[in-house]
Amino acid sequence: KKILKIDEKNAAKHKTSTNPIMYSMLTSTFEELENESGRLKNIASACRFFHEVLHFTDFSDIEDKIRDLTMVTYLMVNRLGPDYEPGLELGLGETLLLKALAQGTGRELAQLRKDYHVEGDIGVVAQKSRSKQKVMFKPKRLTVLEVWKGLNEIAKFEGTNAQSKKVSVINKLLTACEGVEAKFLMRSLEGKLRINFGEKSVIVALSKAIVEWQLEQKNKTANSDLIVQAEDQFKEAYSRLPNYEILIQLSMKHGILNLCDHAELSPSVPLKPMLAKPTKSISEILDTLQGKRFTCEYKYDGERAQLHLSEDGKMFIYSRNSENMTERYPDLIPVVNALKAKNSTIKSLILDCECVAWDSVNNKILPFQILSTRKRKDVQEKDIQVQVCLFPFDILFYNGESLIQKPLEERRKYLYNNLKEIPGKLQFATKMDTDNVEKITKFLDESVNDACEGLMIKTLDGSDSYYEPSKRSRNWLKLKKDYLEGVGDSLDLVVIGGYIGKGKRTGWYGGFLLAGYNQDSGEYETICKIGTGFSEELLQKLHTLLKPTEIKSPKSSYVYDKNNSNAVPDVWFEPTTLFEVKVADLTTSPIYKCGATYLGDGEKGVSLRFPRFIQIRDDKSTEDATSSDQIVEMYNSQANLQ
Ligand code: ATP
Repeated sequence: KKILKIDEKNAAKHKTSTNPIMYSMLTSTFEELENESGRLKNIASACRFFHEVLHFTDFSDIEDKIRDLTMVTYLMVNRLGPDYEPGLELGLGETLLLKALAQGTGRELAQLRKDYHVEGDIGVVAQKSRSKQKVMFKPKRLTVLEVWKGLNEIAKFEGTNAQSKKVSVINKLLTACEGVEAKFLMRSLEGKLRINFGEKSVIVALSKAIVEWQLEQKNKTANSDLIVQAEDQFKEAYSRLPNYEILIQLSMKHGILNLCDHAELSPSVPLKPMLAKPTKSISEILDTLQGKRFTCEYKYDGERAQLHLSEDGKMFIYSRNSENMTERYPDLIPVVNALKAKNSTIKSLILDCECVAWDSVNNKILPFQILSTRKRKDVQEKDIQVQVCLFPFDILFYNGESLIQKPLEERRKYLYNNLKEIPGKLQFATKMDTDNVEKITKFLDESVNDACEGLMIKTLDGSDSYYEPSKRSRNWLKLKKDYLEGVGDSLDLVVIGGYIGKGKRTGWYGGFLLAGYNQDSGEYETICKIGTGFSEELLQKLHTLLKPTEIKSPKSSYVYDKNNSNAVPDVWFEPTTLFEVKVADLTTSPIYKCGATYLGDGEKGVSLRFPRFIQIRDDKSTEDATSSDQIVEMYNSQANLQ
C-alpha cells in the first residue's frame, strides 16, 4: 500500500502552488468552534471549513487535496500524525512557551508570567501581546503548510540546543501571526486547543464534507442516509486503521461510501481494541447472553498489549491507547523469534494479549503493581528485573488475512493451530466453555486464586462473536470479583467521623470515616471512608442518630493520619455506632492505620476497597467491632495478594 507522506518534497511542491490554504482560514474556524457550545452547530462549522478546503484546491491535483485535508484534520485534533507514531508530541511546557513569547513580542518575561497567571491561557496572552506589538512592516501571512512544517520541526528537535531551536521556530511563526492566529498557535503548541470539539465530532464533520463533495462531483446531492453511511464507514475504518492520511487517501480513491472494503488491518498499524461491558453477577451474564454460546476466560491483571509482526519481520507492541510500547519490551523480541522458530510458516500476525508480570522462579503471575515498576524509557534487555508473560486471548490477523470478521471459535483455531505456547513467556489465556452457573462460579474463584481480576465472558459463534474494534460490546462481558457481593465475611466497623454532605446530601452527612477496634491497645484504627449503600432516608436517620455524638476534636484513642486530609473527616463522633460493611477486597494503604502495628512497619494499615453499607449493628457494642488482628488475618488470607 503506498502511503503518502507529507514530506519535504511535497512541501516544496506545495510552496509553488498558487492556492495555499491560509492558516487564518483554519483559526477563524477554531474561533467559531470555541465561541459556540452547540455540538450540531459546531459540526456544521467544521464541515463548512472542510468543504472550503476541498473546493479551495479545485484546480490542483487530488494529491494536494489529500495532503491539505490530512493536515487540517490533524491540526483540528491537535496532533501531527497518528498516535502510534512516536516523536510527534507537542504539549510544550509553559516556561518554554513564555520564553518564546517574550522573545517573539519583545515583552518582559515577568510581565508575561503575571498576565498568564491572570488569564490562565497562554493563547490569550499571546494574542493580546501580539495585538499590542508595533511592527515596522507587515509580515507575509501564514499558510497551514508553514505552520504544519514548523510544528513538525518543533516536535522533532532533540538533544543539545533543542530548546533554543524550538524557541526560534516558534518566534518565526509568531511574528507572522495576526489576530486569533497567535492564540491558536500557542494553544496547539501547548497541546490544549480548547475548541469544544472532540475527535468524534471531527470525524462526523469530515466524512459529511467528503461524501457531499464526492456526490457533488457527480451532480448528485447527499441525503441524510448517505451522510450517516459515510460517517459509519469512516468511524469503522478508523477503528481498524487509525491513520487519517491513509483513510482520506482511500476515501478519495475508492469513494468514502466504500471505504471499509479497502481499509483493512495492517500489521504495524494498531487497531482500536475491543472493550467489555461490566456485569455484577453470573445470573446477569446468563440473562444477557441468553440463547448464545459463550466462553469464559481468565481476566488477567496486567497491561493490554497488541502484538504485531509485519511481513518484513518487525515486531511492534501497542498499548490499549495505541501507544507504541515496542521499546519498553525488548524482552518480547526473543519470544516472537521463538514463535517463528516453532512455526516457520508464520509471516505476519496481530495478537490481542494481556502482558503480565511473571515470577519465573515459582512460575506464577505477579500483581499489576509489580508490572508497573518496569522502566518505561531506555529499557535495556539485560537490566530488566521484572519478567513478563504474554497471554494471547485473540488473533486478529494472520499471514495477510484479517480475521476480525470471523467468529471467535474460528479465530481461536487460528491461534491454537498456528502458535505454540512457550511456558512462562507466552501462554494461551485459560478458558472454559460452559454455561453452568456452578462451574462458572468455581472458575471465577480459580481465576482469583491464580491472581487474576475475574473473568471475561465472550460469545463464541456467529456474527455476534466477531471482533469489534473500539467497541465496548455486549458480546464481551467482564466479571470482576470487585463487582460481586463481596468476598469473605462482612465487617462490623465503628463510625468515628462524618463528611458534610453536598448536592442531594446537603443537610446530612454524605460519608463516614470507619475504624476497626484494636483489642490489644484499645484504640480505634481508621480503615476506610464510606459513601455507598445509603438511601436518602437512611442518611436522614443517621444524621439524627449521630449529630448528638459530635465532638470538637478526635479522641486520643483514634489512630488516623493527621497529615492526609482524605483521612481526616469534617466532624468527629464519640464511638457509639457500628456499621456492617461488605467489601470487595482488602488492601494496604499508608493513609489508613488499621492493624498497622501487626503488619510490620506500623506505617501502612489495612484498607477496604469498594466498601458498601449493609446495616447498623445496634446489637453489638463498639468494642465488639471486628478487631484489627482479625482484619489483618482476613487481609493475609486473601489468596491473590502477594
Ligand atoms: P478495566 O476498566 O476493566 O480495568 P478497561 O476499561 O481498560 O479495563 P475493559 O474492556 O473494561 O477495559 O476490560 C477488558 C480489559 O481486560 C482489556 O483491556 C484487557 O487489558 C484485560 N484483559 C485481561 N484478560 C483478558 C481476556 N482474557 N480477554 C480480554 N481482555 C482481557
